[in-house]
Amino acid sequence: MSMVTFDYKKTPITQVADYIIMYAAKSGASDIHFDPHSDGLMVRIRIDGELRDYTLVPTDYERNLTTRLKLLSNMNITESRLPQDGSIKGTFGDLYLDMRVSCLPTNEGEKIVIRILDYTRSLQGLEHLGFSHTNFLKLKRMIAVPNGIVLVTGATGSGKSTTTYSILQTLNKKEVNIITVEDPVEMNIEGINQVQVNSEIGLNFATVLRSILRQDPNIILIGEIRDSETAKIAVRASITGHFVLSTIHTNNSLATIERLLDMDVERYLLSTALTGIISQRLAKMLCPKCRVKRVTTNYEKKIFKNALGIDVAEIYDANHDGCSECHNGYKGRIAVQEVLEIDDDIRLALNNEKLTKEELRKLVYTSNVITLLQDGLTKVLDGITSFEEIYRIIEIDSDVNDDYGAELAKVNEDQKQTQEKETLTETTNSTISGATQSVLSNKPNESKNMEPATSTTINNQTTPTIDGTTLVEQSNVQEVPFTKKTEETQENNSTPQITSTEIVSQPQIISSTAAPVIVSETKSLLNLAEQKQTEPTLVELPKVEVSIEPVIKETVAIPSADNPQIQITGTTPIS
Ligand SMILES: [Zn+2]
Repeated sequence: MSMVTFDYKKTPITQVADYIIMYAAKSGASDIHFDPHSDGLMVRIRIDGELRDYTLVPTDYERNLTTRLKLLSNMNITESRLPQDGSIKGTFGDLYLDMRVSCLPTNEGEKIVIRILDYTRSLQGLEHLGFSHTNFLKLKRMIAVPNGIVLVTGATGSGKSTTTYSILQTLNKKEVNIITVEDPVEMNIEGINQVQVNSEIGLNFATVLRSILRQDPNIILIGEIRDSETAKIAVRASITGHFVLSTIHTNNSLATIERLLDMDVERYLLSTALTGIISQRLAKMLCPKCRVKRVTTNYEKKIFKNALGIDVAEIYDANHDGCSECHNGYKGRIAVQEVLEIDDDIRLALNNEKLTKEELRKLVYTSNVITLLQDGLTKVLDGITSFEEIYRIIEIDSDVNDDYGAELAKVNEDQKQTQEKETLTETTNSTISGATQSVLSNKPNESKNMEPATSTTINNQTTPTIDGTTLVEQSNVQEVPFTKKTEETQENNSTPQITSTEIVSQPQIISSTAAPVIVSETKSLLNLAEQKQTEPTLVELPKVEVSIEPVIKETVAIPSADNPQIQITGTTPIS
């Protein structure tokens, strides 16, 4: 992704804000950062866990943009010295978006971060979360037990919410009462009673949990176990006939058990209550189109041998130059998991006061668990992710005296030289792909496959009333190889549309004025040494209707005998 520049003389700042949000959402971004720098506001978007520079908003327009974003998210625009939280729910063109916004005063100015909530992953179902066959069977067994506690662990951004919501979706049946306590409620699930923690009024996890237990629940989701009190109530609830699902911020199964013991959860209760632990990380997936095979380094060989007991001579790696469909050889992410099903040996050991951490470790890792490393390496063997990714996300505990960095650099260097030779041969044989040629000559692109995502965006949102000029401008859009993520963008169009019943009041039309103008700068579609620089091209963007819901909606499902579908929808103004 290369950076873009907007023409601020012709484009109202409101349109720029809308466009940035829409572009990020369509690119599958999870967050948008607006970082105040001395020379302006740097906008970065996070795709597949990686922040990428998108545009630099000049200092003169910085304040306007910040104000616009605060206004959209219902923040106090006159307050700039205190942190604020807000949210945006509404339609941007043809996209319904649900976003959480945070504003933080820094020494350079206000930093705003927008988190785009995406439910599509959780809605796909458990079988699409990347569990290996063995782990998936374990998981199914664990959630089939009507009581006990199942924990999902991992750092922030490891996909814990997606996994817990997917489990909840699987368990969500008419005949069970599911109540959640969350901070925040990230996704509304029909048929489930969800409670939002509000610490300002003393409504914390523990208080809500005590009340939940009086509501005859079958299944309880606790957003996160953060303190001893919550941990104790959770464990007690799970041995009194409830299925408890929760997340905890630890690295792996072993650390989770240790953490719970450190939280003073009684051993005999824990040994009875704990059903299983799912630990996970997210690894970037290799682009299937341009991944490359290479020989394994000595360090990799040793790790494969130690962890899986096999000799591996060749693995797939990322083509770090990437292709038209990926970013640096990666596209999308997959979870790497460790699923520990608590067996009788572990139960017995947990009950033993004198059990040392070392003994517990031995017990956990000699059980039938597939460790994070083993699962990760298997996914490397399958060509789904790279060893480099596994090395990055998992702390490899090994006595191998390694200099992996140096080894890898050498292998990559060799690989590059081979590729350069190949590229040279290809160029001389004039076998440049259609896409490449059109970029070089800057001619309209005929290939459907390479159609720029921007033009998809534009076509989707254009109102039928475009005048002649706009139409002419539109055809120019084709000239700009705006993004290489065509396929991904299309995938993201499948963001679920929220039905009209969800809309609480008449949506406010916030903006639908003049069309913004974008100047797109040099693109890096090609990684050839002698890349031709295309002139910056003016592209006129369409007008986009944006409507924001003015209030936060809370839906409480009332289960009733004659109509389980009845819902009462209430509204609460943002405080
Ligand atoms: Zn690729």
